[in-house]
Formats: sequence, structure tokens, C-alpha cells
Amino acid sequence: MKVLVVDDSVTMRRIIINSLKSSGFDDIVEAGDGVEGLANMDGVELVLTDWNMPNMDGLTFVKELRKSPVYADIPIIMITTEGAKTEVVEALKHGVNNYVVKPFDKETLLSKVNATIKG
Ligand SMILES: [Mg+2]
Repeated sequence: MKVLVVDDSVTMRRIIINSLKSSGFDDIVEAGDGVEGLANMDGVELVLTDWNMPNMDGLTFVKELRKSPVYADIPIIMITTEGAKTEVVEALKHGVNNYVVKPFDKETLLSKVNATIKG
């Protein structure tokens, strides 16, 4: 399964990607914002995206994907900042399938990923 990881923090992308790799995901692409994310959607089957990013934030990115006939139903996990409850509600309203709150541990991330791809 091809996974796209979108976050403006290189460190956060490394943490997410290393967690995914440890769980057997080996087809992973990354992007630094929503614009780069949209440009790298080819063949992607699961999206993990940060909320706060320059150029195009995570919520706008999600809205763009949901508007697209190709990616309207793709599983999306939003990574939000601690305590951002209104963000979570907003993200879910716009079609995010699941969310992870920072800081998170590997087990939490992977259990959300597995729950999301199992539908
Ligand atoms: Mg960010």
C-alpha cells in the first residue's frame, strides 16, 4: 500500500515514516505541504497529513482531495496538535477518517493506521 506523509517538519516526517516502515510499509512518499501533497498523489492509497503547514494547510489539502473524483474516498489521517479539539471536529466534518494527536507514540499511530485501512 502506497502511503503519502505530508508535514512541514522534516523531523515529524521521519518519525512517522520510521513508524510506518517498522510496521512493514515500504512504499512511502513525502511532501512538505498540501501543494506538494497534491502533486504526489499518484497511486497513493493512504494519506497522513499535518494540519499547520505553509502554502497549503492540511484542512485545505483534505478539502481538495475530497473534491477530486479520484481521491474522494481515500483514507486520510490528520495529525493535529495537542488540545486542538475544534481542529479535530472541523477535520472530521470535512471527511478525515481518523486523527492522531501530537505528541504520539508509535503504537498509537500504527493502531490508528491499521484501524483506518481496515475501514
Ligand atoms: Mg506543521
